[in-house]
Amino acid sequence: MSFSTKFIFITGGVLSSLGKGLASASIGALLESRGLTITLQKLDPYINVDPGTMNPFQHGEVFVTDDGAETDLDLGHYERFTHAKLGRNNNFTTGKIYNTVITKERRGDYLGGTVQVIPHITDEIKKSILTVAKGVDVVIVEIGGTIGDIESLPFQEAIRQFKSDAGKENVLYVHLTFVPYIAAAGEVKTKPTQHSVKELRSIGIQPDILLCRTDRFLSKEIKSKIALFCNVDVDQVMTAKDVETIYEVPLVFHQERLDEKILGLLNIWTRSPKLGDWERLVEKIKNPGDSVTIAIVGKYIHLRESYKSLNEALTHGGIANDCKVNLDFVDSETIDESSCHQRLEAANGILVPGGFGARGIEGKMKAIAFARKEKVPFFGICLGMQVGVVEYARNVAGMEEAHSTEFDDATPFPVIYLMKEWFDYKSQQVQKRDTTSDKGGTMRLGAYPCLLKKDSLSYKAYGKKEISERHRHRYEFNNAFKEKLEQAGLIMSGISPDGQLVEIVEIADHPWFLGCQFHPEFKSRPMDPHPLFVSFIEAALAYKKQSDKN
Ligand code: GLN
Repeated sequence: MSFSTKFIFITGGVLSSLGKGLASASIGALLESRGLTITLQKLDPYINVDPGTMNPFQHGEVFVTDDGAETDLDLGHYERFTHAKLGRNNNFTTGKIYNTVITKERRGDYLGGTVQVIPHITDEIKKSILTVAKGVDVVIVEIGGTIGDIESLPFQEAIRQFKSDAGKENVLYVHLTFVPYIAAAGEVKTKPTQHSVKELRSIGIQPDILLCRTDRFLSKEIKSKIALFCNVDVDQVMTAKDVETIYEVPLVFHQERLDEKILGLLNIWTRSPKLGDWERLVEKIKNPGDSVTIAIVGKYIHLRESYKSLNEALTHGGIANDCKVNLDFVDSETIDESSCHQRLEAANGILVPGGFGARGIEGKMKAIAFARKEKVPFFGICLGMQVGVVEYARNVAGMEEAHSTEFDDATPFPVIYLMKEWFDYKSQQVQKRDTTSDKGGTMRLGAYPCLLKKDSLSYKAYGKKEISERHRHRYEFNNAFKEKLEQAGLIMSGISPDGQLVEIVEIADHPWFLGCQFHPEFKSRPMDPHPLFVSFIEAALAYKKQSDKN
């Protein structure tokens, strides 16, 4: 095997939540800013084949790629920070690796052999890494979990072996660690980092760069101490300082000369970085001209990670409008007739995000009715759109017991239902499903085209007729109620090219009321904010200005 591609492996030490995903994404951004082509990959230690079947409280958001893979939320960071085109090969889990190996074993591929972690699992991991290496200068691979965890050992062993396969000059190990400031001692402590690196070295990996997460720039003395104990040069110890906005991370890394060091160690020559866009972006985020408050009425509100891309997309919509977006997370279970007004009155816009299961549905319905009647800008995403349709059917179109069959199988007006059969243009096959279908990977997933109606709110926002957006849902708008709902004033402004699937609904006598069956948040970028979020925040700002006048 010959290697023209370089590989950077990123591991994490001491504790989780140090921002390994953001660090990986930021390294990607810096390398791109120097003209290199890169891709990123996440290796996750858990046994689920993908995170699609995990509860958001367990795992945070499930990020969906164009090709319909349900992936780790770090892929969201990768896409937001870089131009890398990601798909199902950019995220592997222990479950996915074992699934492949066991399938091969059953097929007889290893006939005669004992199938073992080393070499069979580790070989499969290395093969998975190589699936994304074609045509790029650098592959950045983030290893989930923390060094010392039992679960991630096969991944660590595989990346250790990778260096001898690919050649020393082609592989770099970056270790993100934690250097806490202990107020009582009045100093930062390096011991956790020493231990973590010791652990890493005990499995045969000598880190090349230590990224030290801390709340202050580390002094030369501290860096020297870390360098001495961890067997690296002092200029290979970098401060990964806390920042005000995540989009500042590439700039702080650059200030520490991280990109220069990486390129030096990998022996790559590039132009100097162009970071003007990032500087302007951070400048804009830090100095907004105005602010709006958006109420997010959902049920996963206690874990911000559950709505990661959504939060970012709202921020992006704000950047485009020179405005800070404050998020007010409202537990939909606490919303009822009496609390609704008081709880939502201060919001300049109301958003009901995606979700699964019946809990909190009635509260979401109340919030949507409030937004509709009070003419507060409303954005319904996936489940938010579905509940919006139910609310409209019940309270405007006179179908009082309307529901989605996800929540009431016996409703006389199943305005949202499980489409038993539909033609999937991706597989070019008729897909069938019922309530007994497998739950993993069986939703309508990934990018689907959609045509917009001229003069609609959506058309105005996008400025074009054909769009492509990412989906992740099982239930659909029921065409049997299309006419009735249309007569009652619901506008189906986005439809699949074959005319079968309703993808966007709006209402006319309202400043901004839009529900979409897809997840626009997955495609929003800080430097290329999603048109629906830009338009929604613009409407929220107008609503705020108008309410201030009244
Ligand atoms: N639960 C709904 C469905 O499966 C909506 C899913 C979502 O919001 N992502 O169709």
